[in-house]
Amino acid sequence: MSNELHDLSVVELAALLQSKKVSAVEAAEHFLKRMADHSHLGAFVSIHPEATLAQARAADAVLAKQAPTQPGDPFKTLTGVPIAHKDVFVTRDFPTTAGSKMLKGYQSPFDATVVTRLAEAGAVTLGKLNCDEFAMGSANENSAIAPIGFDAPAPVRNPWAPDRVPGGSSGGSAAAVAARLAPAVTGTDTGGSIRQPASFCGITGIKPTYGRASRYGMVAFASSLDQAGPMARSAEDCALLLSALCGPDPDRDATSLDVPAEDFSRPLNDSIEGLRIGIPAEFFGEGLAPDVRAAVDASLKEYEKLGAKLVPISLPRTELSIPVYYIIAPAEASSNLSRFDGVKFGHRAKDYADLTDMYKKTRAEGFGDEVKRRIMIGTYVLSHGYYDAYYLQAQKIRRMIADDFQQAFQNCDVIAGPVAPTVAWKLGEKSADPLANYLADIFTLPASLAGLPGMSLPAGFGEGGMPVGLQLIGNYFGEARLLNAAHRFQQATDFHLRQPGSI
Ligand code: GLN
Repeated sequence: MSNELHDLSVVELAALLQSKKVSAVEAAEHFLKRMADHSHLGAFVSIHPEATLAQARAADAVLAKQAPTQPGDPFKTLTGVPIAHKDVFVTRDFPTTAGSKMLKGYQSPFDATVVTRLAEAGAVTLGKLNCDEFAMGSANENSAIAPIGFDAPAPVRNPWAPDRVPGGSSGGSAAAVAARLAPAVTGTDTGGSIRQPASFCGITGIKPTYGRASRYGMVAFASSLDQAGPMARSAEDCALLLSALCGPDPDRDATSLDVPAEDFSRPLNDSIEGLRIGIPAEFFGEGLAPDVRAAVDASLKEYEKLGAKLVPISLPRTELSIPVYYIIAPAEASSNLSRFDGVKFGHRAKDYADLTDMYKKTRAEGFGDEVKRRIMIGTYVLSHGYYDAYYLQAQKIRRMIADDFQQAFQNCDVIAGPVAPTVAWKLGEKSADPLANYLADIFTLPASLAGLPGMSLPAGFGEGGMPVGLQLIGNYFGEARLLNAAHRFQQATDFHLRQPGSI
């Protein structure tokens, strides 16, 4: 075990806090200093050290009253563990912007359910993390908010290579974990925003089954797809956070499922002897970069060594997931974002002639280009005359994509493949080309459209020494299986323990 607090896993740090060898205040102070020393990465958009330290003091008071854990005791509490939240979760102690000028300076009167659940488990909040505006993007280049230490909006940098993107939209989240500015964080995934940045930054992240985590207090992008999940260095750490943040929220999120919270840490060590891993042919075709393919292939060989069996499968509508997602997500976004009109909260234009002019100017000033693009596409595909041709067709194909997965799961237990076709690209390389960004989402969109759980785990390195992630997709409520398979892999490999040279 290293002496540096930021090198510890969540599990190790939590044990140290329990044994009172370190206090929650000491841990919080250590990470706050480290965040300040690494502000050039642009990962955080808001901090409030007094609020963080007040939470840490409260955690220390709880720890003082708790009986010390016996060695070997199963460990379940996060009391005093510092974490950070993607800036799409509303928080009482910190402003919430969702990366948008529209919400700059917005102060929520309540906490998102995910934030509340993690706070109830004892976690201490270090701050809020940069992200693409309203979680729309794959490179975190769409944020309109200046990170801490900057006067103007600036891209989040990938800790493995500061001239590369960290992925998106949870780019600040992934960069913070990779640079060890927080042992774990939250992210959201609508079409890949937990898995892809986790892959680009060499960390582990999981998006649960749609409906397992409450969406209450998550700034909405596409409500039938949005899910929250944890990002950390290992599957073991993700399991601890996921157990705390999932669970029904019937009074506040009508799509939250009546499935009780589960202890995802318990089955981590189960044998994976005989596990059938489905390998979709469509995930390994043209367009997959050779360096990513090599790392993914090598990790699948490792799984075979661990006793798993590789089963060829087909997900024939993989390619269609791009047009289907980029119709459905903007359609829902155009409706969700109609609430930002300058009346109730957020930005309001200064000079306007009348109410209609106020709406127009407020929205023209408050939204960035990518958000406007999606509002226009969404409004178009929902409009009379085009609804049947686009939106309805997309919904039908979405159902077929979900059916294809059920067909595949007849012959396998989990599905494995790449997370993204390439490693993290250079800053600015695709920022002028929205389609290039959309196409890079091809391997994460299918599971999102089907509402299935998916995760990314570090699986090696590719071009430029950049991390490559392996994606595991499970059937509905298969999170425990995924985390178990990921944990066994992480016990046999050390990709998740490597750290960027510059950090
Ligand atoms: N990259 C996808 C998009 O731009 C997914 C984003 C997300 O999952 N929030 O919509």
